[in-house]
Amino acid sequence: MTNKKRVIRSESVWKTILTPEEYNVLRKKGTEPPFTGKFVNNKDDGVYLCVGCGNPLFNSDKKFDSGSGWPSFRAVLSEDSVNLKLDSSLGMVRTEVLCSVCGSHLGHVFNDGPKPTGLRYCINSIALKFEKKK
Ligand code: FE
Repeated sequence: MTNKKRVIRSESVWKTILTPEEYNVLRKKGTEPPFTGKFVNNKDDGVYLCVGCGNPLFNSDKKFDSGSGWPSFRAVLSEDSVNLKLDSSLGMVRTEVLCSVCGSHLGHVFNDGPKPTGLRYCINSIALKFEKKK
């Protein structure tokens, strides 16, 4: 569990804050089409934050090229960055990745990532904003 202060907003407030495309992914658990997101090929050093609340989620040093078409990370920035939840929608059993602060859907985590973690956090670009290291 996180000690971070949680952000709780009604869906009508979320609709005013997010673009329709962001809303579909973050609040409706949608998925952006592969190879369309703005961070798929981003190799800059910096931190990826939740677009919904600014919670720091991933550091660029854990990003890797998975070939999946979505930004992929070997690990989260800190243990309390995200919450994980079993997702058995669409006839698959997956592990959903949610922002620990605002509860927004970010993507899924799989067990086929590179060593040593073996994890692949498969995250929608549209759920992220990037803060380049100065
Ligand atoms: Fe968030």
